[in-house]
Amino acid sequence: MREKKEGANIMNHLVRHIPSIHELQQTNQFHTFLHHHHLSMERGTDLLKQVISICRASILNEDWDGPHPSSTDFIDEVVGQTDVLTRKFHSLSLRRIINATGTILHTNLGRARLGQETMNHVMAASCHYNNLEYDIDEGVRGSRHSHAERLICELTGAEAAMVVNNNAAAVFLILTALAKQKEVIVSRGELVEIGGSFRISSIMEESGALLHEVGTTNKTHLKDYDEAVNDETRMIMKVHQSNFVIKGFTATVQTEELAELSRMHSNVHYYEDLGSGALYDFTRLGIVNEPMVKSVLDKGADIVSFSGDKLLGGPQAGIIAGQKGLIDQLKKHQLARVLRVDKMTLAALEMTLLQYIKGEEQEKNPTIRAITRPKEEILHQSRKFVEDVQGLGIGYTSSIIEGQSQIGGGTMPDVELGTYLVAVSHPLFSSQDVHEKLRKGKPSILTRIQDNVALLDLRTVSMDEQMEILHALKNIQGTD
Ligand SMILES: *Cc1c(COP(=O)(O)O)cnc(C)c1O
Repeated sequence: MREKKEGANIMNHLVRHIPSIHELQQTNQFHTFLHHHHLSMERGTDLLKQVISICRASILNEDWDGPHPSSTDFIDEVVGQTDVLTRKFHSLSLRRIINATGTILHTNLGRARLGQETMNHVMAASCHYNNLEYDIDEGVRGSRHSHAERLICELTGAEAAMVVNNNAAAVFLILTALAKQKEVIVSRGELVEIGGSFRISSIMEESGALLHEVGTTNKTHLKDYDEAVNDETRMIMKVHQSNFVIKGFTATVQTEELAELSRMHSNVHYYEDLGSGALYDFTRLGIVNEPMVKSVLDKGADIVSFSGDKLLGGPQAGIIAGQKGLIDQLKKHQLARVLRVDKMTLAALEMTLLQYIKGEEQEKNPTIRAITRPKEEILHQSRKFVEDVQGLGIGYTSSIIEGQSQIGGGTMPDVELGTYLVAVSHPLFSSQDVHEKLRKGKPSILTRIQDNVALLDLRTVSMDEQMEILHALKNIQGTD
């Protein structure tokens, strides 16, 4: 008790020696600092005050191990810390990552990467004025919807289309504009949650549409839907089970059957939330199970929606396609204005879609390219990498093993793509160390850890990035 009190007294005493803000403002150190960062006295003082208050708290908390507050070292220390704080404020938060995890679409890593040609179009449209809402031929106001609509219609066979902020927004808009205060029939097996923050049931509640659940988690039959239709029904909705698979004793109703059922009731629309929505035919490569948007519309869906940055490999967006009458209702709704996309998104989407139309997606779309990369090509790249790692001559051992890449992003959960992995280890560092040092480097490099080995999947790594990984491995000793 007594000791504690004495300790507190000493601390109070120390705190009293902290120079005043006014005194610190006069120092050479502070002036050099202001000059270096081109800061005003006011802004610099603000930052300085933040540091002083942290120092004061630390002294009072008895964990201050810096110089005595009355010393010149103390001034160096606080101005130095203010400098560190300023650098932190002035650095960008979004940083580049080299993804060697083998997960192609990672929601935490920004999902789809955009290709060079796509980014060139975004640059051209964004650094200059553009015809976002202007009709150049007629010299009158144009529609923002026009840019992507033609391409979506051509690729999906839909009568009309529009683009909103993301697929969650698309679901929300469709339910609000077409089914508010009315019933929407959904199978219990499809009431999915995606990424912990998007639940069909919650979105529906927010939209004002009334959820009418039918069937059970593993089985829903056509007669369940049929019996559920009543005067209040406005929509039958099918939600694509994108991030999980129900196996075993299951039954779901096919698109054709649900489309036919809805056609028997004049006021009931049939909507499919496709989640990913493939425009590329993955079945060609034996990567099965993902319905193509066009085939779902051909089978009779009135309206569909899907994400721009999942399997499509474009920017974050929600794409809605289907009957013109329904799309027109959506375009006119006030929410369409709330959920509308920016010119950068439209530019990226337009180029992404155009590449599909020209059949260039496998070559130019990084997501499609990564998914369809031949295994032998990854093996070849991995061999070169192993050679280069050995060539560093600083004790690394590396070898190639077979493994699996994941598509990720809540798509095709049961599909695994055969790949080769490079296992890297160092005599002085644990694999956890290697993994962490690479992660904390610049750029950040993400690897997998499996059975205490750091593994790199080069499927999503370019040759330039591979050189950067080598460089990071070479300098690993100097990093902490
Ligand atoms: C991913 C997904 C969504 C949400 O799409 P975002 O583009 O992430 O908003 C909605 N429904 C399904 C079935 C999905 O898979």
